Amino acid sequence: MSDVAGKTVVITGASRGIGEASARLFANQGANVVLLARSESAINAISAEIGDAALAIACDVSSYADMEKAVQTACERYGKIDVLINNAGVIEPISHLATADPAEWAKAIDINLTGVFNGMRAVLPAMIKAKSGTILTISSGAAHNAIEAWSHYCSSKAGAAMLTRMAHLENAAYGLRCMGLSPGTVATQMQKEIKTSGINAVSQLDWDIHIPAEWPAQTLLWMCGTDADAWLGEEISLRDESIRARVGLS
Ligand code: NAP
Repeated sequence: MSDVAGKTVVITGASRGIGEASARLFANQGANVVLLARSESAINAISAEIGDAALAIACDVSSYADMEKAVQTACERYGKIDVLINNAGVIEPISHLATADPAEWAKAIDINLTGVFNGMRAVLPAMIKAKSGTILTISSGAAHNAIEAWSHYCSSKAGAAMLTRMAHLENAAYGLRCMGLSPGTVATQMQKEIKTSGINAVSQLDWDIHIPAEWPAQTLLWMCGTDADAWLGEEISLRDESIRARVGLS
């Protein structure tokens, strides 16, 4: 497994779900973890449980000013950022194109797509200068498939997947490692919202088939190591049994 001891890892959307599980796992492995989310009390509580290796910063990823300030604060505390995990995301508003609320639709794009750009833009200059850094972005099967009532989500995830390819294209020469992770379906608040919607086949899935948030967290840790270098610039799918075996999840 990757050695992240002493490294600084910024995780967006760390107030619950995959982000929280990742913060706990990376800290457990000796990393400094910077937890970003809008729910300040939630990230403060998780950070307090983790201890000195954690820093919670309230941040709306759709605001570049918030993101830039968070990255600056993290650098002041830990010196530099080694890993950025672009994990923050929303599934609402689940609605057909013909009836979607335009403002809410645009807000989802601001979070799921512009939020990923904001994270990359904020960390890239220092990573390029250091000629070192890893940027992992959570993707989805929805980046590659049209799913009823998820036009905002599918479009934003497709855009975020392209940002991973762009980040690799422009920065691999500096030694930067950029990859995406498509986790499959995960038992988090997001899947509860999907189930409640009752729209499309994903909402009909049995809860038992969703994997725990600890699995993508473990995979993100593995992606920080050289064993994952064969996938630089690409997307890793956790539905792939051979990946699960490689990560040690089977
Ligand atoms: P979740 O439990 O709902 O967590 C989403 C996280 O994103 C929360 O911490 C939330 O925190 C944060 N977030 C949302 N909007 C934000 C904003 N504007 N600024 C900062 N943080 C924000 O869902 P999850 O399943 O762990 O999702 C994590 C990632 O996995 C998402 O990118 C999602 O699209 C992706 N994914 C999930 C599944 C699945 O089946 N669950 C499948 C494929 C991909 P606050 O609300 O406190 O800001």
